[in-house]
Amino acid sequence: TPSRKPIIAGNWKMNNTHFEAMALVQKLAFALKEADYEAVEVVVLPPFTALRSVQTLVDADKLDIRYGAQDVSAHASGAYTGEVSGAMLNKLGCTYAVIGHSERRQYHREDDALVNAKIKAAYANELTPILCVGEGLEVRKAGRHVEHTLAQVDGALEKIPADQARSIVIAYEPVWAIGTGEVATPADAQEVCAAIRGRLAELYDEELAAGVRIQYGGSVKGDNIAGIMAQPDVDGALVGGASLDAGEFVKICRYRD
Ligand code: PEP
Repeated sequence: TPSRKPIIAGNWKMNNTHFEAMALVQKLAFALKEADYEAVEVVVLPPFTALRSVQTLVDADKLDIRYGAQDVSAHASGAYTGEVSGAMLNKLGCTYAVIGHSERRQYHREDDALVNAKIKAAYANELTPILCVGEGLEVRKAGRHVEHTLAQVDGALEKIPADQARSIVIAYEPVWAIGTGEVATPADAQEVCAAIRGRLAELYDEELAAGVRIQYGGSVKGDNIAGIMAQPDVDGALVGGASLDAGEFVKICRYRD
């Protein structure tokens, strides 16, 4: 089976000015260097306004940290006030773009068709999507979480060819676990991550499915990460709140210690 390097990504959401962003990245870089840590891919996802500062730091100090944006426009350029294009993010050295985060689905009414268009825009600009999927509490209570999440995967990947899809990162984030302190059990995370991999095998093939990294997200902390990462189909974590604290985030990145 192809190896899937674990990927721990910090979604800062709407936190940190570009000054604060630089301080946090420097703290992270220092702590990770101390740890001599290379077994895990470490990613930060700052607000758009901090990307240039993060790029400057990462380039100047040749930091082993990748970064990306929390969203990307579905459009290439033009009269889309307030939007940021994939080409702009590419020029800022972004490796990743988060697409379809539950907060964007909820507060900005992003649906599967828009998520799909954003995935196309990301690939058109050499950005790797971190596609977020996951069910809300009502759906979970009704026992329809797998079906719901797989429908989001289907919608997001519509007409995305295999040579693009093989690099995608998918984050399973049950909405009831995001920012609530209520982490899914490792078994819950495994159930849905395995189902996502199964769906990738159906949509594409077994080999592609075996190579895609699937993260869990939702109230991940230093003291609950190890059990989640021990699951065979969980290849990383998308971390919100706990990524704002350098010490806590490094603890998560060092879950193997
Ligand atoms: C997220 O926003 O992707 C997330 C998982 O948030 P938190 O870790 O704060 O639950």
